[in-house]
Amino acid sequence: MPADIAGAKAALSHLDIEEKEVAIKAASRDFFWYSPVLKDRLDHVVADFVVRPRNEAEVIEILKVCYAHDVPVTTRGAGTGNYGQAMPLEGGCVMHLRHMDKVKEIHPGRVICEPGVLLKDLDAATKEHSGQELRMFSSTWATATIGGFIAGGSGGVGSCTWGSLRDLGNIIRLRVVTMEEEPRIVEFTGEELARVSHAYGTNGIITEVEMPLAPAYDWVEMFVATDDFMDAARFAEALANQDGILIKLATVFEAPIAKDYFQRVAPYVEADTNLIGLMVAPQSMDGFLTFLGRRPEARLIYRNDDFDWARTPGPVFEYGWNHTTLRALKVDPSITYLQVRYGYPNHLDLIEKMRNELSPEVLQHLEVLREGGKVIFAGLSLVKFTTEERLDEIIRLHEEAGAMIFNPHRYTLEEGGRQTVDDRQLRFKKEADPKGLLNPGKMIAWDDPDWDYSRMYAYPKLQAAE
Ligand code: FAD
Repeated sequence: MPADIAGAKAALSHLDIEEKEVAIKAASRDFFWYSPVLKDRLDHVVADFVVRPRNEAEVIEILKVCYAHDVPVTTRGAGTGNYGQAMPLEGGCVMHLRHMDKVKEIHPGRVICEPGVLLKDLDAATKEHSGQELRMFSSTWATATIGGFIAGGSGGVGSCTWGSLRDLGNIIRLRVVTMEEEPRIVEFTGEELARVSHAYGTNGIITEVEMPLAPAYDWVEMFVATDDFMDAARFAEALANQDGILIKLATVFEAPIAKDYFQRVAPYVEADTNLIGLMVAPQSMDGFLTFLGRRPEARLIYRNDDFDWARTPGPVFEYGWNHTTLRALKVDPSITYLQVRYGYPNHLDLIEKMRNELSPEVLQHLEVLREGGKVIFAGLSLVKFTTEERLDEIIRLHEEAGAMIFNPHRYTLEEGGRQTVDDRQLRFKKEADPKGLLNPGKMIAWDDPDWDYSRMYAYPKLQAAE
């Protein structure tokens, strides 16, 4: 059935509906434009209307009405995803969760809240209540929501100690609403969490989350410099392997990233300076300085609790994760990036190999990540973009060398992930979204079960550019 947009809008007219064209366009966009490939394909995409529920009952009402009128629903937290996760490919309704921002309960080691609360507001509430904070957050801490992080993100600041968001224990419980004739509320824990976490809102809408907390500290944020890139990578790895030193971030930037793209750091580094961004717990600083003293190849050039720089560089984590790409893009719009996994035990060799083959076309930006108890690296490499063909070739070179790519130039779950069908997500979609109206076009397994991934998937119902 074709979508009855007018009918759905009329039925929802008593809710907070956005009518202004400019505002609808703004709420229809995320950070897909980080990718020149996605920018070419998604720039024109726009929803028909935007509605902002105030609570779970309104979410249920919106899903029920849109189901009855065959209107696609794409949920939006803050729209900071950069795989085009929140782009309403087929138009329809964008359900923006900004009003659902209540922190409901805080207990020792856990918090219960609505999905639309910003990560920074959640941290502020738990810190004020009982000196606790999220174990990990996306570097978009200041702007992104907890629901968007769970449904669209993967990990971030804190993952050097706690692993990825989807690792057991890093999400406690999710409450989810389905999109059926009569929407149901389901609660997921344990094994079932994988059905909806990192599913881009394709198979249910998260209306409440329960997340684990850790003690909050006034983290000491630092920049350390080295002349040799591999020295910087080895420093970050060795620090993360120090069992007694608590860190929240260890990021490595190949030269000349710091000089060329980090405006406020640039006066204090040279073009050939490699940089390490760190967050260390205050009680670990004595141990850290002892560790540093044993490494003459590394120089501490900045710490946020004692510095003589003319201007503060701001939070060090806003140089890491995908903020590195953002800073580079602002200086050189031809920069894009790749998301790479350098797995244990060959991670350092692999990084060195890729750098020898591809630098400076591809500059290394590494994030320390804990996986299965081992320290590994995620690469969010900066790529000087020339053509799609060359980008594909660079991806192939990584894969042939044994480095896994999570391709940020694709808008489907499968292509941005491990290129395989997630059966748990697909099975739940069959139950929870029988008409396939939730964030359509993002799950290939739903649209085309025989897809072979040999080329980029193009959603057949993607809005045509005018
Ligand atoms: P949105 O972009 O609004 O949504 C993300 C996805 O989740 C969409 O598919 C949306 O439909 C779905 N969704 C949102 N809310 C719900 C809900 N309640 N129920 C069901 N589905 C829902 N990501 C990381 O993982 N780590 C990082 O460190 C990181 N750094 C970034 C830095 C920059 C500068 C940028 C631009 C992006 C970065 N990202 C990172 C990607 C993105 O910011 C994160 O994934 C972020 O947490 C998304 O939150 P959001 O509120 O903006 O979600």
